[in-house]
Amino acid sequence: MILKDQMLFKAVSFHLDSDPPADARFLLEGFRLAVNNAIRAGLQARVTSRNALSKLAYKDFREEHPEMYSQHLVSALGVAAGILRNHRRLVRRGAARNTPYIRRLMMKAENQAYKLDRESGVIDLPIRAGCHVKLGLVVSQYHRKYLDDNNLTLGSLTLLPDRVIIAFRKEAPKAYTPESALSLDTNERSLDGVFVNGDDGVVVKADYRDVAVIQQRHHDRRRRLQKKKSHDRRMARLLCRGEGVREHHRVDYRMHQVANAVLSFAEMQSSAVVLEDLKGFRTKRGKDLNRRLSIWPRRKLHQIIEYKAAWKGIPIIKVDPRYSSRKCSMCGRISDSRMGTEFVCECGWHLDRHINASINLLQTAVSKGLEVAGGLRFDPGAFQHDVMMILYEPAMAARSEPNGTSQADAMS
Ligand SMILES: [Zn+2]
Repeated sequence: MILKDQMLFKAVSFHLDSDPPADARFLLEGFRLAVNNAIRAGLQARVTSRNALSKLAYKDFREEHPEMYSQHLVSALGVAAGILRNHRRLVRRGAARNTPYIRRLMMKAENQAYKLDRESGVIDLPIRAGCHVKLGLVVSQYHRKYLDDNNLTLGSLTLLPDRVIIAFRKEAPKAYTPESALSLDTNERSLDGVFVNGDDGVVVKADYRDVAVIQQRHHDRRRRLQKKKSHDRRMARLLCRGEGVREHHRVDYRMHQVANAVLSFAEMQSSAVVLEDLKGFRTKRGKDLNRRLSIWPRRKLHQIIEYKAAWKGIPIIKVDPRYSSRKCSMCGRISDSRMGTEFVCECGWHLDRHINASINLLQTAVSKGLEVAGGLRFDPGAFQHDVMMILYEPAMAARSEPNGTSQADAMS
């Protein structure tokens, strides 16, 4: 259905069990220098691809960095190419900062340029001919899950002064045959829907109303900054950008939590997850309304759910949401206007608007071929009086992750 035959990546962060040896430190400094040199060369020659950079700079590079292992040098060109591409995109949007460069110490090695003993958690990293360093990783139970999983192969390694990030990869597993269905209507403050298992059904909710609060707060703060720094637009822009980054991080974090809660329920119940396709979604014009209706947290949530589901082999069915909020899930009549919080039909049917929409999404999914082992026999009437099952609520965000080291940006 989606993400078929796709390579999936999961970045896992490991702390080092001791300070890295001096050679590793030199490697980091050399790598940073090489990346920044390559960026400068690329800007001058106006090239952004790794190949073009290679042709342009590799020979000089070899002479300038005679001590560095050649695969690391190639990798530095790759990192520089990525930064140059990103810079070019910003230039096109008119949002470019000054000349790009990397400030923090880092180095990246492709999987053929390092060795990891998955049993002991020791990395063997070549520095130059005849010189390797060993880096011991702190391995928790959480890390063991990835190290011991034979389906996972090793991707690139990113070395930072105090930790390494290893990309584990695997082919997307085949999704299981669902035994039940979880259909969710995606709204500004919550996912609302129904869980159907054979003859049984229950209303479910994943509530993330705090996301709207976060967005409001950051919006207000940006506005205040703009007013306060109206004499210095450059500074205002800079501060606002920082606000935006913080806002994205906070929203992302919550969306990961919501996705985890929804998917662990789906996995436990061997459910297929039905979502609407948000692609065609347009926001109305007008600044304030636009912000209030801003769609990106919802798109982000879907992106996270889809990726995590692909990783776990949980089937996701995306359906066209057209009329889902205006159609009566009992008689199929399409009403002319949008409803209030309650959907009311001429046939006498009435139900929470979002729940009604989620039933429509499920019906569309079934008509498009969603098959559930044992079948689904659900009566929309059952959802009128049922108790609600909460899959997620903001209070859960306060709980700390059992592993503090999982990368928040597992998507990248
Ligand atoms: Zn009706």
